[in-house]
Amino acid sequence: MSDQKQLTLKREWCKGCGICVAFCPTKVLIMDTDYKCTIDNIDACIKCGLCELRCPDYAIYLKEAEDGK
Ligand code: SF4
Ligand code: SF4
Repeated sequence: MSDQKQLTLKREWCKGCGICVAFCPTKVLIMDTDYKCTIDNIDACIKCGLCELRCPDYAIYLKEAEDGK
């Protein structure tokens, strides 16, 4: 485990259930006007992985950053 992980969202897989928005402890995520999850405040992400754990559609996850960015 490293903190080089990157929050990644596949909008086309999101069915708009809102679970990740509800569970994110630092309010990184919001639902947009199309009822899709949107990353609103990436700086607040503590990379806890709760959104990944709870998303039923594998639409949001932490991925290893390839270039460390
Ligand atoms: S990893 Fe944690 S802090 Fe970051 S968006 Fe997901 S639930 Fe929120
Ligand atoms: S939990 Fe998954 S499907 Fe539900 S709003 Fe979040 S990204 Fe979309």
